[in-house]
Amino acid sequence: MTATLEQQNEVLNPFEIAVRQFEIAAEHLNLDRGLRKVLANPKRALVVSIPVRMDDGRIEVFEGYRVQHNVARGPAKGGVRYHPAVTLDEVKALASWMTWKCAVVNIPFGGGKGGVICDPSRMSAGEIERMSRRYFSEIIQIVGPEKDIPAPDVNTNPQVMAWFMDTYSMTQGYTALGVVTGKPLAIGGSQGRNEATARGVLFTVTEAMKRLGMTMQRSAVVIQGFGNVGGNSAKLFHEAGCNVIAVSDVYGAIYNANGIDIPKLFEYVARERRVTGFPGAEAIDANALLELPCDVLIPAALENQITLRNVERIQAKIVAEAANGPTTPDADVILRDRGIFSIPDILCNAGGVTVSYFEWVQGLYSFFWDETMVNSQLEKIMVRAFNDVYDTAQRYNVDMRTGAQILAVGRVAEASTTRGLFP
Ligand code: NAD
Repeated sequence: MTATLEQQNEVLNPFEIAVRQFEIAAEHLNLDRGLRKVLANPKRALVVSIPVRMDDGRIEVFEGYRVQHNVARGPAKGGVRYHPAVTLDEVKALASWMTWKCAVVNIPFGGGKGGVICDPSRMSAGEIERMSRRYFSEIIQIVGPEKDIPAPDVNTNPQVMAWFMDTYSMTQGYTALGVVTGKPLAIGGSQGRNEATARGVLFTVTEAMKRLGMTMQRSAVVIQGFGNVGGNSAKLFHEAGCNVIAVSDVYGAIYNANGIDIPKLFEYVARERRVTGFPGAEAIDANALLELPCDVLIPAALENQITLRNVERIQAKIVAEAANGPTTPDADVILRDRGIFSIPDILCNAGGVTVSYFEWVQGLYSFFWDETMVNSQLEKIMVRAFNDVYDTAQRYNVDMRTGAQILAVGRVAEASTTRGLFP
């Protein structure tokens, strides 16, 4: 199929997209022009070279980033991504989405993000450890429990957070639990953090279903991505009574109209490290997965998955953006016009940073909560945030994304103007 001119010209640069989304909210809020310039751009972006001795003895140099978008409401907060396609603009976009996300759920953090251009699937555990420790030591001047608190993102996990925490603690001379979140439980992680993002997705979809007169029981759910967010979403939606009819990962997609046996799929993935080849489902084309008729479509992989090239063929009732930036602004308008209810990323996937906030608080107090406490506090915050966004969208007569963006930008703008401009 040849692409139309419109499709060819669609803006896919994540930072341009983030600025465009911000400008729409700023316009609704009638924000001061000077303040717009402050809020649109990151406060700080650090580019580092990370020399690593590889297992075969040669030295490889990786490029890494840490971006702090805004800290008006509290320390910067955001994950670190390891991926071959990482760019500075992508990290800038992800950092700004973190600012808005923390404001949507009203937790006292600003936005940050990090990334390293690398392909961890081709690296040994030792190489990843050495790269992680050197990356963290290169950004150590700007991170810390009161400054900027990293967390996991694509291809980083609790073990990487443990190496970050240890690297930082070794230079400080004491164990600093508050420097990263998403840590293993043995070293100050929080109960419930691993599933938190997916649990937040479940809570926001539950709220959306109430508004749309839908029920979880036997709803057809399609999930792109089977990592922390996608895999845990499959588990939680399955437990909630949904039929998860299709899932995918970087290797391909699988489908079963009657619902995939998710516990069995987990056993299979634990062995094979991929969803493809699972005996209880048939293989389908990875792009076709997004276009399956379903009640809930959960993109949980990367940016720019729903674009002008496929948006007309999306057949979901709800798109729950578990990933960051899965829908382009042009596609967004079409989803809305087609009556598809979109739960925007800065609301939908905010459960992760919310439990990261709980983890940070628990670490600073050295007082740890049980999982029931974590999950009930998370539910309270996610339901409140959903209602705040829904009400804002109604008040301004806009879609959920613009509502979320107006709510968030308004909160950050208020913090910035109240603090005033230094010096
Ligand atoms: P992850 O590394 O644990 O998993 C990523 C998954 O996506 C893997 O299963 C991978 O195989 C799959 N994938 C990659 N490219 C794909 C493609 N082209 N098609 C289909 N699947 C593909 O990462 P994660 O932490 O689950 O993050 C996923 C998304 O959720 C990202 O957008 C991330 O920014 C966002 N997010 C994560 C968290 C968190 O707490 N981890 C919080 C909020 C948002």
